[in-house]
Amino acid sequence: MAHGRLIILSKKGKGGSKDIENCLPSCLLCNRLRWHRKGKDLRDLIFFGLIARDEIKKKTVLGRKIVELKNKRIVQNKKRRRRIE
Ligand SMILES: [Zn+2]
Repeated sequence: MAHGRLIILSKKGKGGSKDIENCLPSCLLCNRLRWHRKGKDLRDLIFFGLIARDEIKKKTVLGRKIVELKNKRIVQNKKRRRRIE
């Protein structure tokens, strides 16, 4: 994996290892999005993402709000990255 990362799913203290069953390959962009999240937190993130995507597809009020928040977040992340670099 040239620019990829391996996400360790369960924490070290809870039996987390680099065995294949405990790892999820990730590209650099996805790895940046997950920040420090692992295990249950990462699963929640994916699950909430599926719910959000359904709301967006159905163009519900919530779905439209989520798109609005996403666009705001993209702007915030760009500003934050500029400050770090
Ligand atoms: Zn990715």
